[in-house]
Amino acid sequence: MSVNIPRGTQDILPGQSEKWQYIESIAKDVCRRYHYKEIRTPIFEHTELFKRSVGDTTDIVQKEMYTFEDRGERSLTLRPEGTAAVVRSFVENKMFGIPDQPVKLFYTGPMFRYERPQAGRYRQFVQFGVEAIGSEDPAIDAEVMALVMAIYKEAGLKKLKLVINSLGDAESRTAHREALVAHFKPRIDEFCSDCQSRLTQNPLRILDCKKDRGHELMATAPSILDYLNEESKAYFEKVTSYLDAMSIEYVIDPTLVRGLDYYNHTAFEIMSEAEGFGAITTLCGGGRYNGLVQQLGGPESPGIGFAFSIERFIAAMEAEQVEWQVDEGLDCFIVAIGDAAKDRSVSLVHDVRAAGLSADRDYQDRKMKAQLKASDRQKARFTAILGEDELAENRITVKDMSGGTQEQVPLNELAAYLKTTMEAN
Ligand code: ATP
Ligand code: MG
Repeated sequence: MSVNIPRGTQDILPGQSEKWQYIESIAKDVCRRYHYKEIRTPIFEHTELFKRSVGDTTDIVQKEMYTFEDRGERSLTLRPEGTAAVVRSFVENKMFGIPDQPVKLFYTGPMFRYERPQAGRYRQFVQFGVEAIGSEDPAIDAEVMALVMAIYKEAGLKKLKLVINSLGDAESRTAHREALVAHFKPRIDEFCSDCQSRLTQNPLRILDCKKDRGHELMATAPSILDYLNEESKAYFEKVTSYLDAMSIEYVIDPTLVRGLDYYNHTAFEIMSEAEGFGAITTLCGGGRYNGLVQQLGGPESPGIGFAFSIERFIAAMEAEQVEWQVDEGLDCFIVAIGDAAKDRSVSLVHDVRAAGLSADRDYQDRKMKAQLKASDRQKARFTAILGEDELAENRITVKDMSGGTQEQVPLNELAAYLKTTMEAN
């Protein structure tokens, strides 16, 4: 009996994994330039962490968590998102005591959500995210948006839309919440059961409902932007003026609310506008969470962050038909004919690799022709041929597959020769 891969997960095979590495390397390099450092937290955490931070009323906590009991009868959960753990770590390691705030962190790794699998929606997916904790300067809101846009741009994506909104501070949200309840309450029986419980628990999240999206009351719902107090309004204006100063385009959408409970002030999403991108167009979500650190037992430390999944990033690259700048070719394939040459090729391939080039050889005892074909298939830049004659004369025939030229090179100079030739063009 064969065992299949679990639903909603995928194997990333060679040919695909290079794309993942490519995106991750761009993201890490952009983080280096923006001065964000990597943090690595566990794959599982106490279930309580997500209940307290993500929120009891969210889809994630109510329906999507992989929760299990370990042998010590503790309730643990495979992380469904990254912010909770980063904030836990910020508190636990007293990072609020570091003189330079905000603490600027990035993370990448698998996240787990029990969702209905479909295009762009997996049960295990990889997120790349950033958190800047410890400052409420609107410049940091603009910075994290600039950072993620830089990652997408560097990868070659163009058809993107940055959508932003302000959820205001606690006072603004309370006023808006009352207006939302007054708006929906008289006709709440026309909404799904989730929305009915949201009305009392978290009415803002009705606006985020995927089932009732088309209901006429959605379009006429009170806009948060009309309920922002002076402070929240001024904050939002600062954020947008900084985006303008960096020539980062955005649209303001007052209906944008984020799924998680802990957001306030700035909320944003990045959508793909590429034709042929599936129904789910959100590539990235982020926002400010000023109360979360306190909620998890730390001092008041306002934070902001975002996360995107590599899966949807790749889907956007393919929808836009962006060319992958990945180098999958081999520098040198060594073709060895005869037992003595094969023996000699062991240390020869080793020397080329030690010099920093990629090299490979035959391990199937194939004839010369089949080895040459293998070299071709593997897109080797050079094919180096070692036959009995060459071995006797301590030299090797090197074919430059890009130009078709052929040279005789002393055996102990192979690596140096390949290097200089590659550097010359
Ligand atoms: P959605 O509305 O699509 O369910 P979300 O609000 O649950 O998104 P977030 O929790 O904000 O998403 O996660 C940030 C990003 O992670 C999303 O914008 C998306 O790119 C990605 N993401 C979320 N869930 C999945 C998933 N199941 N598979 C792949 N990527 C995902
Ligand atoms: Mg979701």
